[in-house]
Amino acid sequence: MYDPKSLKAEEFICHQEVLDTLEFAEKNKNNRKLIDKILEKARLRKGLSHREAIVLLDCALEDKNKEIFALAEQIKKDYYGNRIVMFAPLYLSNYCVNGCVYCPYHAKNKHIARKKLTQEEIAREVIALQDMGHKRLALEAGEDPVNNPIEYILESIKTIYSIKHKNGAIRRVNVNIAATTVENYRKLKEAGIGTYILFQETYHKESYEKLHPKGPKHNYAYHTEAMDRAMEGGIDDVGLGVLFGLELYRYEFAALLMHAEHLEAVHGVGPHTISVPRIKHADDIDPNVFDNGIDDDIFAKIIACIRISVPYTGMIISTRESKACREKALHYGISQISGGSKTSVGGYAEEEPEDHKSEQFDVSDKRTLDEVVRWLMEQGYVPSFCTACYREGRTGDRFMALCKNMQIHNCCLPNALMTLKEYIQDYASPETKLLGEALIASELDNIPNEKVRNIVKANLENIVKGQRDFRF
Ligand code: SAM
Repeated sequence: MYDPKSLKAEEFICHQEVLDTLEFAEKNKNNRKLIDKILEKARLRKGLSHREAIVLLDCALEDKNKEIFALAEQIKKDYYGNRIVMFAPLYLSNYCVNGCVYCPYHAKNKHIARKKLTQEEIAREVIALQDMGHKRLALEAGEDPVNNPIEYILESIKTIYSIKHKNGAIRRVNVNIAATTVENYRKLKEAGIGTYILFQETYHKESYEKLHPKGPKHNYAYHTEAMDRAMEGGIDDVGLGVLFGLELYRYEFAALLMHAEHLEAVHGVGPHTISVPRIKHADDIDPNVFDNGIDDDIFAKIIACIRISVPYTGMIISTRESKACREKALHYGISQISGGSKTSVGGYAEEEPEDHKSEQFDVSDKRTLDEVVRWLMEQGYVPSFCTACYREGRTGDRFMALCKNMQIHNCCLPNALMTLKEYIQDYASPETKLLGEALIASELDNIPNEKVRNIVKANLENIVKGQRDFRF
């Protein structure tokens, strides 16, 4: 029985409800009256239910599809302005006991180089990341209770926060590790993590069990209920995602929004972010063996429809996607992107030899962070290295309240400009610096409050003089 308030995976992601939703969408994909009604509701910017959202996803009317994309773009501008938050993944260890059939870290892969960073190696990686200009990381690790126990993750987080190289600092560590216990989530919270990210991979239980044939990740309910445990452990910023290509995208889309509705219904807070990874080629993984790959047009529509359905949830796209694909995705809803990423263990400090590769998947966007930052600015975006919200305690419902009232603009643009200035001052190439200075000067006028504008101007000067880490 479908119940968004239930704590049982099979009730809040009810298979029958997903099937009924898909049937409802199929029946109504040309229903102009209903589509108009849903678009009218979407314009109120309070989001849509999974049933309403999927009618837009399936909509077959060309003129209405144009409206959907235009609305997604407008909602993105309203909530996130032209700011794009920057981050990088940091792989700690690729030891893994699971058997995920799409991931080269699966336990049976004897070909991939297995690596686990020592604390000294982590320090080297962090220095390399700081030297690029990164302030926000997403920690990645395989699941292995012996090699990667929670104590190792906690110690690594401590090391990362402790490194202060030149003017660098990692100010927010998000964590993408396997589903764990309430007690461990509490420890992660105490260690000062930002968002806990866990991709569902697929919401389709039968497929999930086939795709995860062995190891702790095989347990669908334990994985699907992880966010509830994370919230019970005090983490109120959680990040959802599915790995597109494993199952039918319509199924995943409906279920993903049901998951968001469940978090809102039970905890009063929806997901902080939604990621949209697609399967990539990797060491012993051929993405073509998975039948449900989606093309760039469907991918863009999924992003646009998520944007409309959960306006106050940030959306993340990684370097799995090409420059061209990311460029399009930024229009329709993406608010966070990675840059200069390595998916290998230890890859920032050292290039891996050809015969000793530890990468999780091939990266499509291989540009440096400086190139990504410059590219964003050339298109009128403000790359932001801001980490202020969680450091100021604006997480969970406090962040959502700010976002829902659109009050977020009063601190986000100033914080984005001040952190961009730090980047320009410390790390940018001359061309990027030139563009950045001009952008900051013109964006200052867009800070509505004069008092705030003057504080920002003073702080920008202080950054030139050597001070760092200003925030609202
Ligand atoms: N082991 C943790 C877990 O079970 O969630 C951490 C996640 S893993 C390091 C990060 C994510 O990479 C996975 O959740 C999966 O969605 C994604 N991934 C795995 N193999 C991939 C592939 N071949 N292409 C693209 N993404 C992949």
